[in-house]
Amino acid sequence: MVELKTTNPNYITNMNRIMKDNYLLPVINNKIYYMIVAVNILSLIGLLFNNRLSVKDVGLGYLLSQITFLSGHAVVHACFIEYDITNKDIDNTGVGNYVAYLHHYENSKELPYFWMQHRLSYIFDTPLVYLTWLPFINSKLLGLFFSYSGWWLLQGPLHEWYHLNNSERKHHFNPIINNLFHLSEKIGMVSTKHHQLHHKHQKNNLEDVEKFSDMYIPFLEEIEQKIWNFNVNIKNKYKWKKTLYYLSSIQHFIVLLASFAITKKYCY
Ligand SMILES: [Zn+2]
Ligand SMILES: [Zn+2]
Repeated sequence: MVELKTTNPNYITNMNRIMKDNYLLPVINNKIYYMIVAVNILSLIGLLFNNRLSVKDVGLGYLLSQITFLSGHAVVHACFIEYDITNKDIDNTGVGNYVAYLHHYENSKELPYFWMQHRLSYIFDTPLVYLTWLPFINSKLLGLFFSYSGWWLLQGPLHEWYHLNNSERKHHFNPIINNLFHLSEKIGMVSTKHHQLHHKHQKNNLEDVEKFSDMYIPFLEEIEQKIWNFNVNIKNKYKWKKTLYYLSSIQHFIVLLASFAITKKYCY
């Protein structure tokens, strides 16, 4: 089985510094640390969770987590274009953006190599995701929130899985998660091939990014692509500062608020 290595030791130095600056937490690079953080958050929600998880909760949690991922992923790519992530802005664009940049444009295996930083960024770099929920939370919605958080936290490991061969997958994941992803791929819910299309663009054509989804979601990926292309046109036409970043962030916030509000009003 293959042990992963970083392609450049400087990445480790940078990552440790950004981790300390961004998360104000001691950096303990091991799986136990991630488990404690992830399980703590989920069990806090679980403690509050006083109704059963229904099929509706599981389905809507999936839909909402994918909506969140699509619109949030566009914000990350806007940062790649409008920030100097590996130089000037290295200390203020966050751990998630740095890992994602190395993964996209230096070496795709940097993502599973920095697996802990990557997965923690789904918890700490996305305050908007959790804060937007606050006005909507009530006892009826706890099952949905639990399902949503579960789907959301699964995105990180799944993305790492896409970039590993079978032998590396066996080394990187426990057999339950690895087989769960294989099964999800068999039924078409996840797709390594589809994700490869997302990596077709490179540093010289950052705006041509496509296929923003990591899990199967009908129609919404096409809509996200149209919004992205529209925002890129505005950016190129008016040349305002950080246009793409602000447009994508506002869009992400509105999409989250609207989808949570609609779900609460019509489904619960
Ligand atoms: Zn991407
Ligand atoms: Zn990838």
